[in-house]
Amino acid sequence: MHDEQALVIFSGGQDSTTCLIQAVRQYGRGNVQAVTFRYGQRHDIELECARRIAADWGVRQTVLDLSVMKQVTHNALMDEGAEIQTASNGVPNTFVDGRNALFLLYAAIYAKSQNIRHIITGVCETDFSGYPDCRDVFVKSMNVTLNLAMDYAFQIHTPLMYLTKAQTWALADEMGCLDYIREHTHTCYNGTAGGCGECPSCVLREKGLAEYLAEKAV
Ligand code: ZN
Repeated sequence: MHDEQALVIFSGGQDSTTCLIQAVRQYGRGNVQAVTFRYGQRHDIELECARRIAADWGVRQTVLDLSVMKQVTHNALMDEGAEIQTASNGVPNTFVDGRNALFLLYAAIYAKSQNIRHIITGVCETDFSGYPDCRDVFVKSMNVTLNLAMDYAFQIHTPLMYLTKAQTWALADEMGCLDYIREHTHTCYNGTAGGCGECPSCVLREKGLAEYLAEKAV
């Protein structure tokens, strides 16, 4: 068990919930905090899931309002009624410019104020959806930037960076929380409780789960 503390960037989705539970096991419940960002998501259901999961695991959660984002950018995650599509450059219109840079910056400012060095984020470049700020090279560059900006030895951890969705489900299963994550996390772009089964996020999640369960059955 670690004697250090960690801050998890926590949306209430499958990936960040897997990271949160792993952090609780690794650092100990009292040493883990979560930070959740409100930035004009279309659906409150995501924030509600995050609140409930943090409470379930006894993790102190701080919700930060970044809805100022809406003043400078719009996308399908934030616009009511916009259809979710993939543009010709391969980047889905759910991409929010600068989002992970902002999240990491605010997480780091908060972490330092709490004497926390370890920041955990569930970004992943394996099932790459074309989001440039989910790449390992971006996270490493941001880590250097934050350390220089605040003269502090932050360590950003990305435990899911090279895992497929199936492997992320396997990790959840190893920790004994596959069913918990399946039932309590929210990842649907359309905000449908239990998942719409059709949006890119639901498709990726279900495909990964089916792959993992098929492997396990062999
Ligand atoms: Zn969906």
